[in-house]
Amino acid sequence: MVKSSWFILVELLLLLQCLSHFSISQGQGYDFFYLVQQWPGSFCDTKFSCCYPTTGKPATNFTIHGLWPNYSNGSYPYGCNRIALMMEPRMEVSWVSLSCKNNETTFWTHEWDKHGTCSESVLDQHSYFEAALNIKDKVNLLQILEAAGIHPDDKFYKVDDIEEAIKAGSGYTATVQCNSDLSGNAQLFEVYLCVDASGKDLIECPVIPTKKCNPSIQFPIF
Ligand code: AMP
Repeated sequence: MVKSSWFILVELLLLLQCLSHFSISQGQGYDFFYLVQQWPGSFCDTKFSCCYPTTGKPATNFTIHGLWPNYSNGSYPYGCNRIALMMEPRMEVSWVSLSCKNNETTFWTHEWDKHGTCSESVLDQHSYFEAALNIKDKVNLLQILEAAGIHPDDKFYKVDDIEEAIKAGSGYTATVQCNSDLSGNAQLFEVYLCVDASGKDLIECPVIPTKKCNPSIQFPIF
């Protein structure tokens, strides 16, 4: 009798675990995306160090870190429903893997597994990668910054000037995130823009990411 009660309890626990996993992977939803673009010079200048892909040194341009589904309350879903990765050739150019630890598919798989799976009800894997690439192409960050006199020349620029230039050039508010090089200089690391839940259009951000930057930051040569 005691044994069968234990058995039922264990079965119930297993069932609950399955149900909670099912609701995480099926019922997710999200409110908008962050499109996060990265300056490769800053990634390479830090404790990350970096390795170029087999195609050689990437173009001197911003590259995608990710397209991240987010909730309007500031939290975000992750790891929703993993499937095998399908490649998108444009990613070699615009979503560059710079890690020395892994090959490039590992980075793309990580981004799909952690973030892309949570918008799968709207964008299948191919559409998800395509959406990130298309939005990136709509706003040429480097061109906008250079037109405002902000160049990747190792000089220091005010974060406010960088964000104002992107707002003026794209029409949308961007948030800059920073990292430090090995000497402790704060650098322009990533730029967050917000994208509607369809993955098609830029929007004003429902939640502004918390900024971790000095007022004046370096824009490294790459
Ligand atoms: P996430 O979990 O989406 O915030 O991504 C963080 C992970 O992505 C970390 O392991 C980073 O080292 C890695 N990562 C970020 N940028 C790159 C890049 N350009 N190439 C390869 N890995 C990257």
